[in-house]
Amino acid sequence: MFENLQDKLDRAFKVLKGQGSITEINVAETMKEIRKALLDADVNYKTAKSFTDEVKEKALGLNVLTAVSPGQLLTKVMNDELTALMGGEVTELDLKTNPTIILIAGLNGAGKTTFAGKLANHLKSKGKKPLLVAGDMYRPAAVDQLQILGEQIGVPVYANIASKDPVAIAMEGIAEGKKNHNNVIIIDTAGRLAIDEEMMNEIAAVKEHTKPHEILFVVDAMTGQDAVNTAKTFNERLDFTGVVLTKLDGDTRGGAALSIKSVVNKPIKFIGTGEKMEALDVFYPDRMASRILG
Ligand code: GDP
Repeated sequence: MFENLQDKLDRAFKVLKGQGSITEINVAETMKEIRKALLDADVNYKTAKSFTDEVKEKALGLNVLTAVSPGQLLTKVMNDELTALMGGEVTELDLKTNPTIILIAGLNGAGKTTFAGKLANHLKSKGKKPLLVAGDMYRPAAVDQLQILGEQIGVPVYANIASKDPVAIAMEGIAEGKKNHNNVIIIDTAGRLAIDEEMMNEIAAVKEHTKPHEILFVVDAMTGQDAVNTAKTFNERLDFTGVVLTKLDGDTRGGAALSIKSVVNKPIKFIGTGEKMEALDVFYPDRMASRILG
């Protein structure tokens, strides 16, 4: 997924190859190339600029202290800075409360319903007893889809196809979960094709009534800079607790992973790497940084 960015970074590093040490001039040149590579990978300008400024300063500062080659030094500094840019540490779900209520939000096609199933599967494998709530009542196919997924992974699904009231469905789902002693209740919600006031009002109302412990914003990594803008709008309205980047298995550019954290200041918690229920990974900033740098 990062071939593009990686090739460009390799080329940028070559500027330094064969040079004995990092100087103000050669590092500035390399940073210019790296900034270009980041912008091409959909990282937004502010993030790319502050990132390269930081790397430059650290590399120059470390230069006198170390005997490693400029390329190695820069790789190490970039790795550390990329990791920090994506949040540094793994951010776990807050599952302390029983039942934990998790709201899933995002645009249509982002992968919400698929992620809801994957998350239930993941939590079940950790010994939790999840319930899925089919809150995407505008898309009857989404209810069917969730029921099929639930059956596949052995997790119950609450649905009420007679209702068009997302708050009522969510509250009924929570009551059902409490009755059956489910300790995690995952509520899928209705998206739209694009940001839409009615959708935002609906999800905000569901949030207000269900008082979720986690609100996970699901976004398609392939949408690049749009992913960052959508994240910003959802966050302003919902103040979500984490991001799920889907479709990182495809031929996507890595910019979204890099900019989202710095733009909305919320951690990426999971990444989706395929359509199957097992294709879910906890997001490790350091692993992602290594993957980007190759
Ligand atoms: P929703 O409208 O947000 O609920 O999106 P869906 O869960 O229905 O997903 C839309 C499409 O994306 C479906 O065809 C999914 O199989 C697919 N999808 C979801 N997550 C991933 C992923 O991580 N990788 C890939 N390749 N496809 C995914």
